[in-house]
Amino acid sequence: MPADAASAEVAAIVERLALLDDHCHGVMLHDPTAEQFEQALDEGGNGSAPGTSRWDTPVGLAVRRHCAPLLDLEPFPTPATYLARRHELGASEVNRRLFTACRTSGLLLDTGFRSETIASPAQMAEIVGVPTWEIVRLESVAEDVARSGVTAEGYPAAFVAVLAARAAHAVGLKTVLAYRGGFGIDPSRPEPAAVVEAAGRWLREVDEAGSAAQGQATVRLTDPGLLRFGIWAGADVAHTRGLPIQFHVGYGDTDLTLHQTNPSLLSDLFRQFGALGVHAVLLHCYPYHREAAYLADAFPHVAFDLGLALTFAGASATRVLAEAMEVAPFTKILYSSDGFGLAELHYLGARHFRDGLTRVLAGWVADGACNVAEATRIATLIASENARRLYPIDRPAR
Ligand SMILES: [Zn+2]
Repeated sequence: MPADAASAEVAAIVERLALLDDHCHGVMLHDPTAEQFEQALDEGGNGSAPGTSRWDTPVGLAVRRHCAPLLDLEPFPTPATYLARRHELGASEVNRRLFTACRTSGLLLDTGFRSETIASPAQMAEIVGVPTWEIVRLESVAEDVARSGVTAEGYPAAFVAVLAARAAHAVGLKTVLAYRGGFGIDPSRPEPAAVVEAAGRWLREVDEAGSAAQGQATVRLTDPGLLRFGIWAGADVAHTRGLPIQFHVGYGDTDLTLHQTNPSLLSDLFRQFGALGVHAVLLHCYPYHREAAYLADAFPHVAFDLGLALTFAGASATRVLAEAMEVAPFTKILYSSDGFGLAELHYLGARHFRDGLTRVLAGWVADGACNVAEATRIATLIASENARRLYPIDRPAR
């Protein structure tokens, strides 16, 4: 098929698909200040170099290119013009326009990060007009348990009880091990005595920090043994309830050290998860999206998405998606936006995904490696069907 015809036909199909977003967060309910907006374009979290702006990034350019027309502006307004128009319309109208353009069929929301600053799952369901489901973050459960005044001996049972209660209505679990020392850990289940001992150490630190800060200290789990305990307790819940466990992989803020988040380091853990029948979903993955694609090919119970990566890769998103699609089974790639705070990020996740998928599949059709019927089937799997098969969103709660 000629390239132009293939591209038009595949684009029409991909545009019609509703996307099931397997990992994102709520939006801010108020109008962001110029500073808050720029911070949201800064995944590293450390601001821009002196004399420069975060608007001069692939994602900043993409906001001006793709979001501006949805606010009735010509493409490429100045950042000041964009923000002035955003304020004129107001947060709820901006959210309505951008989420309408996303055309999602549902959102799986990670509620474990700065959840007090953004819309809850119930508020997001109202804003977006689609069902929302919750993903429970294992480390947030541990930190809440640590703040509860539990003893070291009581910690393991308290963690298991709180996790079971929180996971009762969730459709998945998530670990941010990547941010807490990385993946180069002993993947085995820790011994109970070692968990109590590590809990004793951590709870003492939490107590001391709490007294020093008069109760306002942030509680952060970094002990490798307790992180492993959380992941294995999560695996037990995942096994019983048929929930996947999401892993933050690669691209993120500078709390992580990039090379320690190469998902290849999790291979031993995936072997053990496989024996239990527990599914892992690798999130974001850049620049390890090729490693993630390989792992998804090699391990039946590993899948991955490119949320955040496609948003922040901007004009290069098509290449990232094409690389992810080199060896991964079509049944193992999921869609997500990883939007946080600004609806622009949810929208750009969707925009770059649709454009990238269209270009990759239209290229295959033009080359004769694929036909339109097969391209439609592959696009539908990635847009929503894979997530529907993996997460228990259509099943009644057990
Ligand atoms: Zn996220």
